Amino acid sequence: MLYTDWEKIDVDMADVSKVNGDVLERDRQYVWHPYSAMGKDDPVFAVESAEGVRIKLVDGRELIDGMSSWWCTIHGYNHPVLNAAVETQLAKMSHVMFGGLTHEPAVRLAQKLVEITPEPLQTVFFSDSGSVAVEVAMKMAIQYWNVKDLPARQHFLTIRSGYHGDTFAAMSVCDPVTGMHTLFSDILTPQYFVDSPDCDFGQPCAGSDMAQMNSCLQKNNQKIAAVILEPVVQGAGGMRFYSADYLKQVRQLCNEYGVLLIVDEIATGFGRTGKLFACEHAKISPDIMCVGKALTGGYMTLAATLTTAAVSETISSGDPGIFMHGPTFMANPLACSAALASIGLLLSSPWQQAVDKIEKVLLDGLAACREKPGVVDVRVLGAIGVVELDHAVNMRTISEKFVAEGVWVRPFGRLIYLMPPYVINEGDLRVLTAAVVSIVNDLSV
Ligand SMILES: *Cc1c(COP(=O)(O)O)cnc(C)c1O
Repeated sequence: MLYTDWEKIDVDMADVSKVNGDVLERDRQYVWHPYSAMGKDDPVFAVESAEGVRIKLVDGRELIDGMSSWWCTIHGYNHPVLNAAVETQLAKMSHVMFGGLTHEPAVRLAQKLVEITPEPLQTVFFSDSGSVAVEVAMKMAIQYWNVKDLPARQHFLTIRSGYHGDTFAAMSVCDPVTGMHTLFSDILTPQYFVDSPDCDFGQPCAGSDMAQMNSCLQKNNQKIAAVILEPVVQGAGGMRFYSADYLKQVRQLCNEYGVLLIVDEIATGFGRTGKLFACEHAKISPDIMCVGKALTGGYMTLAATLTTAAVSETISSGDPGIFMHGPTFMANPLACSAALASIGLLLSSPWQQAVDKIEKVLLDGLAACREKPGVVDVRVLGAIGVVELDHAVNMRTISEKFVAEGVWVRPFGRLIYLMPPYVINEGDLRVLTAAVVSIVNDLSV
């Protein structure tokens, strides 16, 4: 048989198209999950399919999704528009290398991203995950200062409680306590940290709120390539919201000390906080911006690092005259097509009203948690609702409890939070908030 006689080849698709009853058993034996141990029986649930805001388990149960699959599936699952975009592209090509070749989906997506992000961002570097987009941003900043003949500017300044990804450079700017600094201390680049802002969202920041950032920049600006932070909402590092005024003043301080500003919009981008990008709350524009997560509506893994003409021209003009990064799957055409469809869908929908509505229902629905013992804070911003406890939840038992309530909610540490798809209706959203209230009630008895 010739390799080209593929029609005669009997590829055994049964393994992937049909769920076998022992999937969980085999999963336990062979597969690592995020932040997991092998050989422990932490609960894992097998998914058969997903549609709209519902995840359908192999055992027939249906769960209302409160996580948007880690903040990505803003339009829900199995969306006809996104499916069509991927299928159309699939019939043309699923991938070609990006060194020396280009294609319409990548170019069009880059144009679209430049169009919808703050004005001075002009060029786009595609990568395949958020962590890599952060690595790319940090490398851009370092290469920029190298060309500017300030090669000592190789370090980064960030705020505590941040999260920027799991690769080494990204880890180095994650919160040093909740991050993984102790485990990898010998290999992690030491960076500059200041306290996470105390001024709340919606409040102005006083001079004292800026004091640490100010003095750190004043003292160390000759060693700092960029300030990197998550704008307004800190995600996986603690689900904190802070004042847009802080961000605005950080921008001013960066200008003052001639340091670049990297804004990590991987969690906040594409409407999650009520603005298309969270830096719009502060009306600022960064020198470098990372996007990921909801970029493809949760369909494919794709991320991007945007920068200004000033940064990209400087890097390209100096030595070595090229930017030193190039992922194998850079600008994957299927992923770019999904992203274009997702952004198109978002911008042509009344997404802002949808997010406003989610905000109101989350505020109302989670309010009952406030008086419960063990609850430290309840906060809501855009389509993000957070219940902060005074103790870490038991992950093993809590996911089972949420599943029993018919919802998919995955807390971490002391935080139970909801980040539903924007398409969720009020009834389903109320089921989610009621489940959180009921579980918080349970925890406190
Ligand atoms: C999730 C996240 C990342 C990392 O993205 P991955 O795709 O998981 O590598 C980086 N920054 C922020 C703010 C994130 O929320």
